[in-house]
Formats: sequence, structure tokens, C-alpha cells
Amino acid sequence: VRLVRYGNDHVGVLTDGGVVDVSAAVDARWQHTPYAMNDLIGSWDERVDMVRELAASASPQALDQTKLLAPIQWPRHVFAAPLNYRPHVAEMVTSPHAPKGLREVDSADGLGFFLKAPGSISGPADPIRLPPLIDRSFHHEVELGVIVGRSARGISAEQAAAHIFGYVCLLDITLRTENGHQEERVMRKSYETFTPLGPYIVTADEIVDPACLDLRLWVNGVLRQQANTRDLIVGIDELLANASHVLTLRAGDVYATGTPAGVGPIVPGDVVRASVEAVGELELEVTKREW
Ligand code: MN
Repeated sequence: VRLVRYGNDHVGVLTDGGVVDVSAAVDARWQHTPYAMNDLIGSWDERVDMVRELAASASPQALDQTKLLAPIQWPRHVFAAPLNYRPHVAEMVTSPHAPKGLREVDSADGLGFFLKAPGSISGPADPIRLPPLIDRSFHHEVELGVIVGRSARGISAEQAAAHIFGYVCLLDITLRTENGHQEERVMRKSYETFTPLGPYIVTADEIVDPACLDLRLWVNGVLRQQANTRDLIVGIDELLANASHVLTLRAGDVYATGTPAGVGPIVPGDVVRASVEAVGELELEVTKREW
């Protein structure tokens, strides 16, 4: 199933014919709120039959007449893996944007996770809006995003797969450190629209092997990043298990699993296209914001 949010906080299933409203499967308290998708994910096992019935019975709305929103707007947490592909570690160590003290041996194995503010999430129809900072670089990072399906605390890697609801194409836009600037990573990655998600969440049952997915990102048609999730240093199951020993993961939580090598600048006027094999593709304009 491919789940979208659209219009006035509707939740829908993306079908061949377009988007079908399945908001009726959401608890009445949360229907037509930004929390509707969290509710649906958190009670998926009880609601999936109703979702499938609704998707099969109602008439779809054409996709080109639908304003898609970020498929999840209010996750409690947006986790992200730092340095989880070896070639990206190598490029950062020799980069003028290397954070202070970065070593070749550093990776998500040992560093754990950082957080992005959920307020940085934007959707497939939203441009990436760069703040008007002088002489600073903003970089693209394409990543496989994992969506947590149910609460998880202290789980093992072997238990993690049962807690995964689905996957999403995700960008982790980043203000780089440079020229003596050393802002906190959380802030550099939390500007509004710096976590584009979408266009939909694909449920885990549709992905044969999440540890064998190609990632690609183009800027203005030029391929910048290319990798496969088989090369993750810390695998998806381990990422979730490790985080679950820090705090309780919640239904709808997002985990950005790490960026491949090839990060580079984006500037207003660029068009970024990102794809995660079998999971989804985003095409986003880059603009400048006024504030
Ligand atoms: Mn990242």
C-alpha cells in the first residue's frame, strides 16, 4: 500500500487511477488533522482491511489535481544516522566542511543518531527554501527513510523488522560548517523544508529487501549521489534497535538511515530529483526564502 496525505489533511491510498480517500479509517478524533497518519499507522493491523475496502470502493481523484502533503507531518521523533556509508565518511574527512575532530574511523556505529526537528518536514509539492545566509553552503543528502510502525523499547535487531511500518524517500538538507562557523548539527539540519518526505509511504510488505535498494540524486539532471542500502555501515534493523535502547520509538517516527557520498551544494533555481528504488521519487525546486 502507498499512503499519502493530501488536500485538507486527508489520508489516502495511491492507486493506479489516482488518490482514494481513506480518512474514514482514521479514529474520529484525528480525522482531518495532521495527526491522522500517525493514528492510522499506530492502529494499522486493526484498520488495514478497512483501508483496503475503502481503496477498492471509492473513486480516485486524479493525482495531477491533488496537492500532496508530507506523508507524515507530526512524527514524535525524526532520527538520523550520521556517517553511515564509508565513502561519505571519506569525502567528509577531506572536506572543508568537515566538522571539528572528524576522524576516518567515525561512523554511525559508535556515534549513534542525531535528531532533526519535526518542524523541518516538508512535502513533495513544497520547494526547498534556503534561508538568506551570506557565504554559506547548503548540501543535498538523499536517504532511505524508515517509518516506525509500533512502539519499540529495548528491542534487538532481530525484533526490529516487526516494528517497521514502511519506507519513504527522504532528503536531509544541511547547512554545512565552514569559515569558522560551527553551529550545532541539530540546528543546521532543522531549517524549515530541510526534511522533504514523500511522495508516499510504501508499506514494508511491498519491499522485498530494504537492504538492497538503489539511491540516486540529481541536481539539474546531473547525477550527484548514487549508492545502495547494502552498503550501510549500520543496517536498518540495528539502527532501530540501538535507538530503542535510548528511548521508546513511536508509531510514525521517521529514521533517516544515512547519506551516500556525493553531497554537494544546492542554490536557488536548482531542481533536485531524488529516488529510492521501489520506495519513491521526489522532484523539488530550490528557492530562497525571505526570512
Ligand atoms: Mn543525513
